[in-house]
Amino acid sequence: MATSTHIQPTLVFADETGNIYDHPDLLMLCRRGDEITLPRPDELMPLPAESEFFLLPGRSALGFDPETGQVEEMEELAVAVFASPAHTLSALAAYRTRPEAPVLPLFAYGAVGYAEGKFWVCARKVDQDRRQVFSGIPRERIENGARKLLTELPKNRLVRHLTGCALTYGCPAAKNFALGRFEAPLPTSRVCNARCVGCISLQPEDSGFPSTQNRIAFKPTEREVAEVMRRHQSKEKRPILSFGQGCEGEPLTEAELIAKAVTLFRKGGGKGTVNINTNASLPDTLPDLAKAGVNSIRVSLNSTRKGPYEAYYRPNGYAFEDVVRSIHTAKAAGMFVSLNLLYFPGLTDGEKEWDALAELITATKLDFVQMRNMNLDPELVLGLMRGHDFGPCMGLANFLKRMKKTCPWIEFGYFNPYLDPQTKLPVLGK
Ligand code: SF4
Repeated sequence: MATSTHIQPTLVFADETGNIYDHPDLLMLCRRGDEITLPRPDELMPLPAESEFFLLPGRSALGFDPETGQVEEMEELAVAVFASPAHTLSALAAYRTRPEAPVLPLFAYGAVGYAEGKFWVCARKVDQDRRQVFSGIPRERIENGARKLLTELPKNRLVRHLTGCALTYGCPAAKNFALGRFEAPLPTSRVCNARCVGCISLQPEDSGFPSTQNRIAFKPTEREVAEVMRRHQSKEKRPILSFGQGCEGEPLTEAELIAKAVTLFRKGGGKGTVNINTNASLPDTLPDLAKAGVNSIRVSLNSTRKGPYEAYYRPNGYAFEDVVRSIHTAKAAGMFVSLNLLYFPGLTDGEKEWDALAELITATKLDFVQMRNMNLDPELVLGLMRGHDFGPCMGLANFLKRMKKTCPWIEFGYFNPYLDPQTKLPVLGK
C-alpha cells in the first residue's frame, strides 16, 4: 500500500457553498475516539478513486499550527471523506460541533488533508477485490443488463425489485447482478429482531437522519429466489449469492424460505458460494441452512463484548450470547464464518476490544474479518459507547498485525470471498 512516511498534509476546509480549500500553514488533524491528534505517518494514503467528499454542516474545521503547537479552530467548515469500498478508515475527521449542528447522515467521515498536489486520507486498503469498482462501466451497460433481466424473467418480482435498486439507488450488489458479475443480492425479509442505531433500512421518525434504503415490501417465493440464483450462476463463473442486504431486515427470520430456495438451487445443480449476511441472532436455524447448501455466513457486529454490542444493536428477543452461539454452530456445521466488523477508530482498536475479539476468534476459529467502517455520526457513536471502557487504542495497523500474529489462520478483507469448491477456502484478491 502506498503510504508516505514524510508527508504532513495541510488542513482541508470548505466555505458554506461547498468550495474546498487547502490551508497554507495549518496541518491536517484527525480523530480517534475522543482524541484529536496529528495523523500517524504510516496511516496516510492517497485518497482512493471513487471516494466522496462531505462538507460537515455546523462543524468548524480544526487545524494544527506547527509554529505555536496549538490547535486552531476555523470559521470555515470541516470536510470529511467517505473512502471508497475496500478501504478501512484508521482515523476520522477532526472538527468542533457548533450548538445548532444537525446530526450527520449514515456515512463514515474520514480525515482528509492535502499535500504534493493531492488529497491524503487516514485509511488502509484491506481488499484487492474489484467488485465495487464501477469507474469505466458506462451506465448504459447496467441499464441494458437490467432490461435483459426483465425480459428474461418478467414475472419475477425479485428481479423487478433488484433492477429498480440498481437503477434508482445505485446499489452496488444490484448493479453487479445486472452486469452478471461477482456477488448477487437476495433480499427476503421485511422484519428484523434488532434495532441498530445506524440501521440503513429502517430509521425511527425522531432519529434525525433518514435510512439510506427502503425495506423490501414483499416476501419472494423460493422459486423467485432460486431463479435469481440460477440466472447469476449462468453469467459469473465464481458466483457469490448473498442473503441479507441493505434493503431488508434480518434474513434468519426467513430461514425456512431461504432453506427451501437454496435446496431448489442446489438440487438443480447450483454451484457457488451461498452466503448469509446476518446479525446471527437465531443459532438454531443454522444447521438446516447448512444442510440446504448455505456454505458461508457473515456476522455483523460493532463489538465482541456484550455491553457495547447490545447498546448499538438493541436486540429484541435475543442476546449477545446467541450471536456467539451462532458462530460456534456455523463452524460446527462446516460453514465459512466471517465477521462484518463495524470498525470505529479509537474504540474498536482499544486494548479491551482487541482482547475480546482475539478471544472470540481463538475460541471459535472463525475464518475471516471484514474490516468495515461504522457508518454513523461519530459523536452519536461516542455518546452511545460512553461508559464502556475500550482501553487505550493501538491504531489500525497494529490492530491487524497483532491479530494476525495471535490468530495466524485469520484473513482480513472487506467483501464476502468466493470459496473454492474443492478446498472450501477463500479465493482472495480477484
Ligand atoms: S440487523 Fe440489519 S436490518 Fe436489523 S436493525 Fe440492524 S442494520 Fe437494520
